[in-house]
Amino acid sequence: MLASLEYSADLARATAASYQRVKSVIPAIEWPLHAPYVAAINDLKKRRNAVVLAHNYQTPEIFHCVADISGDSLALARRAAETDAEVIVLAGVHFMAETAKLLNPDKIVLIPDERAGCSLAESITAEDVRQLRQKHPGVPVVTYVNTSAEVKAESDICCTSGNAVEIVESLGVDKVIFLPDEYLANYVAQQTEVEIIAWQGRCEVHERFTAQELEEYRQNYAQLTIIAHPECSPDVLRVADFVGSTAQMQNYVQTKRPTRVLMVTECSMSDNVAADISDVEFIRPCNLCPHMKRITLANIYQALETLEPRVEIDPAVAKPARIAVERMLSFGG
Ligand code: SF4
Repeated sequence: MLASLEYSADLARATAASYQRVKSVIPAIEWPLHAPYVAAINDLKKRRNAVVLAHNYQTPEIFHCVADISGDSLALARRAAETDAEVIVLAGVHFMAETAKLLNPDKIVLIPDERAGCSLAESITAEDVRQLRQKHPGVPVVTYVNTSAEVKAESDICCTSGNAVEIVESLGVDKVIFLPDEYLANYVAQQTEVEIIAWQGRCEVHERFTAQELEEYRQNYAQLTIIAHPECSPDVLRVADFVGSTAQMQNYVQTKRPTRVLMVTECSMSDNVAADISDVEFIRPCNLCPHMKRITLANIYQALETLEPRVEIDPAVAKPARIAVERMLSFGG
């Protein structure tokens, strides 16, 4: 078992390729802490016929060293729908594991720490959605994937920050209820003629950034490009040079190769992008998501070992929730 796995010259050799991938963002002195878990998890995955799906906000030793599939919420949902593995470990937060379970009802889906929540998902309940529908009869409900399965089940279609505008416009209506992120709703409203009825949910990580701190970074760092996630406040987005989803932000850095970049999003995202790119300087104000950080190599290992905790969804909820997610996936945006 893991307790008997100690860092050794053999283990260092066995995990050398993994360390190469993260050596620019993980100091050598820390690798002996990660390497035994990296080796054990990669071994267990084979024995369990399991895959690890990791969100961009996971730490580099998870994102680059044990993940089979990585990306933003949309990429994880798409790839979760395609996997042949019998076991899915979701290195992310609970709503992401629920989405994987919705798309793989017959597979074992594990969330290494059930407390990995999300302030957006917790900002709204299924009853809130039902009341909104009563208040705005006939208006379709577009729901960000950062919601519980119960809320998705009350929705017409899901979206992510990367496809929200296209999904809203695809409905061919002049008004939609857009849930639950107030700032994303505001951003979408600026990109479309469709009237947006918003909720007051916020991401506790992205709302911490301020325009003032970004202006100060600009004054202190020449040639700084600021790219921001649309879950940030309108003031922050006004200061940014580019606004996009996590995947779009990553793509921006990979293709535009700015001299210096500040990614206004969760802290680990910069580390994960920086691990692959050596010719861009990353300026990193660090706002961590406490929910994402509940996932560790140790509890991923534990989940694979015990095949617990599993994500289960009431079939009466799962059916309509799956329809809302599948509508988004079939949209292709
Ligand atoms: S970063 Fe924000 S939206 Fe993402 S899981 Fe954390 S609280 Fe939720």
